[in-house]
Amino acid sequence: MRKQPYKIYVLRIGHRPERDKRVTTHVGLVARAFGADGIFIDYADNHVFNSLVKIVNLWGGPFTVEVGVNPLKMVREWKEHGGEVIHLTMYGLNLPDVINEIKNSSKDKLIIVGAKKVPKIYYLLADWNVAIGNQPHSEIAALAVFLEKLTDGWVFNSVFNNAKLKVIPSARGKKIVKL
Ligand code: SAM
Repeated sequence: MRKQPYKIYVLRIGHRPERDKRVTTHVGLVARAFGADGIFIDYADNHVFNSLVKIVNLWGGPFTVEVGVNPLKMVREWKEHGGEVIHLTMYGLNLPDVINEIKNSSKDKLIIVGAKKVPKIYYLLADWNVAIGNQPHSEIAALAVFLEKLTDGWVFNSVFNNAKLKVIPSARGKKIVKL
């Protein structure tokens, strides 16, 4: 289990089914592998949903996947229920300048990553607009770096429940055990 007392969820907004299937799936894979409790995706993309659920069934959880959420309603309700919202954006404050304050807050965390241009309202509603450097790159990379810091590198000691497969770290080759 992660040692952080709060819940960590990812909200993917602006998913375009015709071009974002792979990237959104990878956002979900990173969210799970780096210790988030689940992902919400604004568009009801069953292909992405099925890919992520398949991974959870094979490699373990807990990790929830919900598609077709209304993102603005979700952000407003998250805040109303006492959670905080972190929007990853190249225009934000840099991670090293804010990570300790975010880590030390005990509120549940909703981390927003965009696909297409993120509407201004999310910048205004976010408690934190956080940059992983102020250059444009990738939501997958941004999420991985942010979660690695937020969870103190949980990815390197991760434990998942109900996994059917597990990798045995090895210097060469592939060692997988069936559980
Ligand atoms: N052009 C879009 C905009 O202005 O909102 C963003 C497109 S970018 C490929 C997709 C997402 O990657 C962004 O919404 C943001 O979440 C994330 N991202 C890209 N570069 C980032 C950075 N330097 N720091 C934090 N997040 C970043």
